[in-house]
Amino acid sequence: MKRGLRSFGIDASLLGGGVALAILGMPLVSGRWILIVLAVGLISIPVVRSKNLQTTFWTPREVNRRTLKLELDKEACMGVASCVKLAPQVFKLDEASLKSAFISYAPLVILDEKGASNQTILDAAMSCPYRAIILADANSGERVYP
Ligand code: SF4
Repeated sequence: MKRGLRSFGIDASLLGGGVALAILGMPLVSGRWILIVLAVGLISIPVVRSKNLQTTFWTPREVNRRTLKLELDKEACMGVASCVKLAPQVFKLDEASLKSAFISYAPLVILDEKGASNQTILDAAMSCPYRAIILADANSGERVYP
């Protein structure tokens, strides 16, 4: 399965931090139990995230045979724009709306659902650290990503 590099980095950092805290909290003397609690919390985040991941072992040919339906989780999108860099014909940050709204980043809009190959759209969705791009099979309704 392919995951966004940034997402992988976040998970690895959380895991590493959790393990470090667990080691520091090993000698359970006065107050170090809090380190263990924090360690369990940090380690559980990437574990839960990995369970939510959908395994997509499709070859490019399999992916491109499907009709994808795109949805945006506008609450989750933070305007990082890695999706825009990968699929500029499909996604665009609506810079014009910045002038009229009290927001610090431009909202993402879909320009053209068919503006790139399904594999490119899947790559763009997987590059999103916030998993704000939701892909489904338009015919079966099957969730493709995340
Ligand atoms: S969908 Fe994800 S990658 Fe694209 S702009 Fe929003 S946060 Fe960034």
